[in-house]
Amino acid sequence: MSCILEKQSMVIMGVANKWSIAWGIAKKFSEEGANLIFTYFGEKSLRAIEKLVEEAGLQNCSYFSCDVTSDEDIIETFASIKKQYGLINGVIHSIAHANKDELQGQYYNTSREGYLMAQNISAYSFVAVCREAQAMMPEGGSLTTLSYLGGERVVKNYNVMGVAKAALESSVQYLAHDLGEKQIRVNAISAGPVKTLAAKGVSGFNDLANAFIEKSPMKRMVTVEEIANTALFLNSHMGTGVTGEVIHVDCGYFILGY
Ligand code: NAD
Repeated sequence: MSCILEKQSMVIMGVANKWSIAWGIAKKFSEEGANLIFTYFGEKSLRAIEKLVEEAGLQNCSYFSCDVTSDEDIIETFASIKKQYGLINGVIHSIAHANKDELQGQYYNTSREGYLMAQNISAYSFVAVCREAQAMMPEGGSLTTLSYLGGERVVKNYNVMGVAKAALESSVQYLAHDLGEKQIRVNAISAGPVKTLAAKGVSGFNDLANAFIEKSPMKRMVTVEEIANTALFLNSHMGTGVTGEVIHVDCGYFILGY
């Protein structure tokens, strides 16, 4: 039986550990026959990814260092990927960061430095990554990022990260407009809360998760596998008409007005 991503080379950015959303997506893509090109941030992440890959028995993986705060790093990373693979078919950008002490309290207390850092890592990095990646997609492709409802509405404590997600989602539309003619699609998955390292940084995350179970139409949390399935759809032949979209994978929580 042929696999959905057979012979596709997919760049996966943002695996820190086994809870990372990017790891769930990587496993799904691998099941469907993709070559996985992991980028990692720091040696600790590299060791973690290599161990996960070995334990899961994934085949056809490679690893490239990339700190997304550095344009030189992003350029070098994609140049190295180009050397090894020639072209790529998709990128998963699953990266965000803000100061923990700014993911609580009043948004107006956000420092200039903290604001710029959250934007830099969580929003601008997608623009810089898309710039390099699109040059390696002569046959078209798919660029996908991860967002959250806090970019559209006020979610208590999400603060500076919500504003970064708003910029990220707007960037998705501008990038989709830029790259549509080349048949390169740009989309975001707005995921419901998942207990990961990044989520733990948001003050009161457990209360938020409990409220989510109580209020969401489906009365449960979303699973990483469900998020990965949506990423698979977007990056497969089934998603070729979809671009500039923010798809909510959050058990319907986004429809609520209360
Ligand atoms: P995670 O902590 O596992 O992943 C975040 C990743 O960002 C890590 O791998 C980290 O190394 C990487 N990163 C941070 N700074 C970097 C830098 N300078 N250069 C390169 N990489 C860097 O957490 P996650 O929850 O899997 O987050 C992935 C994405 O999903 C984020 O964009 C997050 O906002 C989004 N998201 C998460 C949730 C949730 O509840 N967990 C919900 C919706 C959206």
